[in-house]
Amino acid sequence: MKQKGVINIERAAIHVLRREPSIDDPMVCLQCGLCIGSCPKDLIARNRKTGAVDIDTENCTLCASCVLSCPYGMISIDPIDRHAVKCNLCGGQPECVKHCREEAILYVGVDKAARYRREAAAARKGKEGRRPNIRGFKVG
Ligand code: SF4
Ligand code: SF4
Repeated sequence: MKQKGVINIERAAIHVLRREPSIDDPMVCLQCGLCIGSCPKDLIARNRKTGAVDIDTENCTLCASCVLSCPYGMISIDPIDRHAVKCNLCGGQPECVKHCREEAILYVGVDKAARYRREAAAARKGKEGRRPNIRGFKVG
């Protein structure tokens, strides 16, 4: 929504998977950087200010190399603007975090992220099929 200014699932930078009728699973970019280097035009880089992995969409040639490089499926092709698209953390103020009333998506520092992951891992012990939903983090 923030990047394109419209609500359109096909153009979204984050995704929600319905795993069960009552369980929706938000899928967001980890900002892990594994896709950096996949672009033959060198259009993907870490934004030092926000910590996000950003794509220089203006010069995208639609080769889809980056799409194939992400192990989480977090890069897609915008069918209207015709370039690769991924979460850019909304410039450091993720809108999805602000609007998720259930707090299913968190944006926290690495110290808290590690603690939350430990707590989530401990909570899911013995609960088959459950896993932590903490995927994004900010640096500093
Ligand atoms: S798009 Fe995929 S590979 Fe690139 S930073 Fe996000 S999760 Fe990592
Ligand atoms: S689709 Fe665009 S951003 Fe992705 S690898 Fe190709 S040129 Fe680079």
